[in-house]
Formats: sequence, C-alpha cells, structure tokens
Amino acid sequence: MEKKIKRVYLLAALLFIISIFLPSLSFASSNSYEVSSPVLNIRSEPSNNASLVGQFTKGDTVNAFDEQHGWIQTYYGGEPVWIAKHHLISTGNSDQEQTAAETETVDTSSEEATAEPVAETTEEVTVAADSIYVRSGPDTSDTIISYAYKGDSFDVHSTSGDWLEISLDGGETGWIASWLTTDGNVNEEETTEDAAPTVEAAQTQSSSSGSLSGYNIVIDPGHGGKDPGAIGLNNVQEKDVVTSTADHVVQHLEEAGANVIMTRSSDYFVSLDERVQMSNKNNTDAFISLHYDSFSAVPVSGVTTYYNSDSDTGLADSLNSTLASTVPLPSKGTKQANYKVLAETDAPSVLIELGYITNPNDLTTVQSADYQSSAGRAITNGLINYLNN
Ligand SMILES: [Zn+2]
Repeated sequence: MEKKIKRVYLLAALLFIISIFLPSLSFASSNSYEVSSPVLNIRSEPSNNASLVGQFTKGDTVNAFDEQHGWIQTYYGGEPVWIAKHHLISTGNSDQEQTAAETETVDTSSEEATAEPVAETTEEVTVAADSIYVRSGPDTSDTIISYAYKGDSFDVHSTSGDWLEISLDGGETGWIASWLTTDGNVNEEETTEDAAPTVEAAQTQSSSSGSLSGYNIVIDPGHGGKDPGAIGLNNVQEKDVVTSTADHVVQHLEEAGANVIMTRSSDYFVSLDERVQMSNKNNTDAFISLHYDSFSAVPVSGVTTYYNSDSDTGLADSLNSTLASTVPLPSKGTKQANYKVLAETDAPSVLIELGYITNPNDLTTVQSADYQSSAGRAITNGLINYLNN
C-alpha cells in the first residue's frame, strides 16, 4: 500500500517536471525535420538493434531534441524515441518558423514596419563574386560552413581585418572576405582569392577533348561535417565513404573531359538548399548525388539509382545499366523518390545509393579503391551514353 502511494507521488513529480521542461524545450531549442524516405523506423534507443516503436512516413515532420551519432531524438506518443537522421530534411528551427508564421498571419503591412529598423541599424553587404565561401572564422584557413552567391545580401554583425561576420539562416553567423563583396575595392586580380570554384574555373582545369568535353557535371557527395549520414558496421560513417568515392568519380569524369563541380570537396557541412543552388546557378547538364545505404536488416545488399521526375528516367536507366555491368554488387534497379536534391534541381538528376554499409560484404567491397574507381567508371560511361544520345 505504502509502496503504491510512493509510486504515485513519484509519477506525479515526474509528470510535473516533464510539463515544465517540455514546452520550453519544444519552442526554444528544437530543430524541425521532414521525413523524406517512404518509411522511417522509430526506435527506443539510438541504434538499429534497439526495439522498434513505430514508423514515420514520408512528409511527417519531427522536432529534434537531441542528436547522437546520426540519430535524432524526438517524441512519439509522449515517449522519447530515436530515428536515424539519414534522409531527414532539415526544415530549420521551429522556434523561428513559428514567429515567422505569426507575423505573416497577423498583418502583412507590419512586415515592412519590422524590416525597416533592421536595415537602419545594421550595415548590409552584397556578394560581388559569382560564388564565395562562408567560413567559421575570419581567415582562409577557417572551415567552410556554407556558400554565398552574387547578389546575395547579408547583415553585417562585426568585422575583423578584411573579413565581415554575417548572419545566416537559423541564427548562425559566418565570415566572408570583404574583397568579394560590393564594398570591396581591391583590384580585379586579387578578387579571386577565396572565391568558390565555378564552372569557368573548372573549365580551365579539365582537358578540352574527350566524350564528356563541354558538359558540366555536378557531383554531390551526400552528408558531411556535422551530418555523418548513415552509420554502418564498425561505426563507419556514410559521409567518409562518400567523400573518397566522389574523388574517384571526379577523376574518371575529368579524364573524359567533363567540367566537374563538386557540392563539397572534403568533410564539411553543406545544406540541401545550397547543393540545389550550386547546381541551378551553373549551367548543369547532369546532377549526381552519391550516397551509401543503411538498413536494419543486415542481409540487404546492392546498388539503387533514384530519380524524381519522369524526365530523369533516361539518365537513371543509363547509369543503372552501366553500374549493373561494372560494379561487383547486385543492382536493385531504379526507383522513384522525392528527395529534395532531385526535386529542386533543374538539371537531369539522380541519387545513387552505392551499397549498404550495414551489410558486412557490401561494406568491405565499397571501402576498396577498386570498387570506388569502378563506380566512377560506370557513372562516367553512363553519362557518356546518356549525353551523347
Ligand atoms: Zn545518404
């Protein structure tokens, strides 16, 4: 009897604590995501071995309260649960979305009223170069955290030497070189330092002959930086296998004469919007996103080529066919999927899952230079077949 009462008190106290912390958490510090895969397993712990609690489906939105090794903690039926971050699309900070939505619905004229004082009190800067790096600090050795493009305007928070601290989406700040903005008055020749690579820059590097000569190909290595992608066996992170694979793919494409633009060239974070923008701001002939798959059941294996719209089936079929005949993993064929980088890129686009890092055989295979090089050869030949037809 006494025990029972104690338990009731304990439960009441717990509920009280939750009721205090939950609302403040959900409005102050949560990031929202949209589920982009057809189904997403909900688990009790951040592990593929943890018990299955339920499933989200494509288009569901979730708020993230914690993140661990590629897993996002959210709530499901009032219980804390975990979902794999892989293929969740960030829709930003829910706190900001809420206030933005509120001002929009209250009165549209108030928007102008609130925008004006901001412009008056803060200096604004406009990007003058075609595309530039946004860095974590005021130096070319600082990490690239984002990109900015000609005509983009930002509020300036502070300055350090020739560098400007600007505000980015989501309340973060980053640094850009002032000599690449309209305020910069350094001479033309110096203005290329710290400019991000563009098609023009790539053109001078690649050979002018070859079957892909004159074609602009965007290679999009999935994930990177704070986003590890899928976590495979032995804690192998998808972003790392993707990074080295992309290098092999680019090498084969450049040997065939293509102008290659990479959405990231080492291990740093690039948002899906920026990836789309990089493709759409260039005269892109094909956009190819590279990924590795994960699945809770170990035996799943093989390569899948995803496309979004019917107009992309030609590119998907061509790449699926050369992959199936070139790489030593089984082909799972082409599949339609509504991934953001496919839906919003103007160029013909595909997303290739080059094997399962949760499958021991696939993992050993895809980590080899031989495999990554054969994937590069297959993608290059698939593009040659597609673009020259
Ligand atoms: Zn991925």
